Amino acid sequence: MKTNKYIATLGSFLLLISCATNPFTGKKTLALVSNDEILPMAFQQYNQFLGENKVVNGTSDAKMITNVGQKIASAAEKWLNANGYQGYLNDYKWEYNLVDDPTVNAWCMPGGKIVFYTGILPIAQGETGVAAIMGHEVAHALANHGQQRMSASQIQQVAGTATTVAIQGKSESTQQIIGTAFGLGSQVGVMLPFSRSHETEADKIGLQLMAIAGYNPDEAAQLWVRMKANSGGSSTPEFMSTHPSNDTRIANLKAWAPSAKVEARKFGVTSFK
Ligand SMILES: [Zn+2]
Repeated sequence: MKTNKYIATLGSFLLLISCATNPFTGKKTLALVSNDEILPMAFQQYNQFLGENKVVNGTSDAKMITNVGQKIASAAEKWLNANGYQGYLNDYKWEYNLVDDPTVNAWCMPGGKIVFYTGILPIAQGETGVAAIMGHEVAHALANHGQQRMSASQIQQVAGTATTVAIQGKSESTQQIIGTAFGLGSQVGVMLPFSRSHETEADKIGLQLMAIAGYNPDEAAQLWVRMKANSGGSSTPEFMSTHPSNDTRIANLKAWAPSAKVEARKFGVTSFK
């Protein structure tokens, strides 16, 4: 990867302050908010969300979400361990929940806190589609994209709140910042798309995760074809408004699927469902 030398030099200074490596791309990213700061708030907000929404338990769909989630989490762990990132997921407390809500949405908060909305299931069309969405959302979490889309002042506010949050709960605005950064758009009334580069990164990582988990990465492009067909108009569903689908994205996913299969073979996965 070509890197502007000036930026590289500047980057190395910043690394002294705080940095994290995105294990999937090898790229250094600023660790603007540490796990110690963000995870307690994310976990708290996740529990609050579950308390305020109708969690589906015991149905075959709910079981499927958990099952796919566990496989994607295990794929992430295998990949990280094999690539020298043992311990990367130590602070993760994976959880997978389906909520009864017609909104077309799914997200993964930092620390592996996942929610699927029943509204996205018709577009997922089954386990492999769910795996494609799950891989993509988990990839955003692993690469700390949510933290990176908070503004400097928001980060300051979140970090400032972090020390007191465990004792007194958190302010409305901090909730809103976290909600916006991590995809709970409809809860806080603000929807913010990830940057195109983050989307591309999450697509690439997500493909590998789904393949290592045993799901056919060729299906990811088909999922996004369906997403595209469901977007547009004044009532563009939430997920599509934060995850615009287009021909470039679909073409990229098709082009990258074979290398995701190659990656999966390194982990002994030779057939894909
Ligand atoms: Zn995304």
